Amino acid sequence: MTAITEPVDLRSDTVTRPSPGMRRAMAQAPVGDDQYGEDPSVNRLQQRIAGLLGKEAALFVPSGTMANQIALKLLTRPGDEVLVADEAHMMWHEAGAGAANAGVQFSAIGTGGHFTSDDFRAACKPAGHIVLPPTGLVAIENTHNLGGGIVFPQEEAAAICAAARALGVACYLDGARLFNAAIASGIGLAELVLPFDLASVALSKGLGCPVGSVMAGSARDIARAVRVRRMFGGAMRQSGILAAAGLYALDHNIDRLAADHANARAIAELLAGLPGIALDLATVQTNIVVFRLDAGMPDAASIVARAKEAGILISALGPRTLRAVTHLDVSRDACLRAADRLAAAIIERQ
Ligand SMILES: *Cc1c(COP(=O)(O)O)cnc(C)c1O
Repeated sequence: MTAITEPVDLRSDTVTRPSPGMRRAMAQAPVGDDQYGEDPSVNRLQQRIAGLLGKEAALFVPSGTMANQIALKLLTRPGDEVLVADEAHMMWHEAGAGAANAGVQFSAIGTGGHFTSDDFRAACKPAGHIVLPPTGLVAIENTHNLGGGIVFPQEEAAAICAAARALGVACYLDGARLFNAAIASGIGLAELVLPFDLASVALSKGLGCPVGSVMAGSARDIARAVRVRRMFGGAMRQSGILAAAGLYALDHNIDRLAADHANARAIAELLAGLPGIALDLATVQTNIVVFRLDAGMPDAASIVARAKEAGILISALGPRTLRAVTHLDVSRDACLRAADRLAAAIIERQ
C-alpha cells in the first residue's frame, strides 16, 4: 500500500489550521454579545493589541480586507487619491473595494513595495487644486506581500508620515504581516506603528488563527470604526470564540515566526542557485519567497502544476512569477524536502 502523504502547502500562510491548544482556548473562551460590548474575550484581545501597538484603542474585525476598507472609509473622502506602494494589497487584491466602498482612486509609487518620502512628496496632490484628485491618505504595507515579504525601512516610514502630517494627509499601516516585520527587524511593534494614525494586524496569517484582524488607533477613530464595521456587515456577536484564538496566538505564535523566516531563507538559497530563475535573496527577509522564471523557461502555471505532482503547493502570482510562503504548519524538514522537489520540478526537462 502506498502511503498517502499530505502535500506541503506553501501557497500562503493563511492555510494553517488551528492547533489543538488553540482549539482548546477557543472552546473554553468566555463570550458575550460583542455588539453590546459584552464579549470578555474580544475586549481582552482588543486591549492587548492596543497595548502592544501603543495605541489608545483597538477593534476586532473579520478580515484584513475589511480592516483596510474601514481605514479607507475613515481616513478619506470620495474622490480622494490614496498613495500606495507598487502592487499594494489594497489596490490589487481587494476586488475593487476601495473604489466601490470609499470612492477613492489609488496611485502606486516607488518600486518593489518601497517608496521614499521624496517619492511621496513628489506624488502628493494638494487639496483645493482645480483638476487634481486631492491626496487624502498614504498607506504602507509592512511587510509587503507581493514585494516578497520585505520589511519597510522604519526611518523612511517615519519620514513619510511626518511629511504626510505636514501636508494634512492621513497615514495608515496595512500590517497584515507586522509581526513578521517586528521579528525580522528587531524593532518593537509599537515603534513600527508609532508614525501612523491607524494600523491593522492580521491574526489569520503567520499567527495561525482561523479568522480575524485587529485595527488600532486613537479612541476617536476606533469609535468611528465601530460604526463603519457595522455598515460593512462585519459586526459580530459571540466572536470571543475567534478572539480567543488571537489571544492564544499572541502568547504562543509570535517568537516562533523566526523559524518560518529561516525556513523561507533555506528554500530561497536553494532556488536562487538554479538556472532560469531570478530570485533576489535581498528580498527574502521574512516568510515569503517570490521568484521569477526567465524567458525560455516554462510559465508559472506549468511550474505550479509540476510542483503539485511532486506534492508541493505554491502560488503563481503572475504569468512568470511564483510565490512560496512558510508558516507554522510546515516544519523545517518539510521545507527542505519541498525546496528539493521544487528545484527538481523547475529544472526538469521541458
Ligand atoms: C492578506 C492581506 C490582507 C487581507 O487579509 P484578508 O484577511 O485575506 O482579507 C491585507 N493586506 C495584506 C498586505 C495582506 O497580505
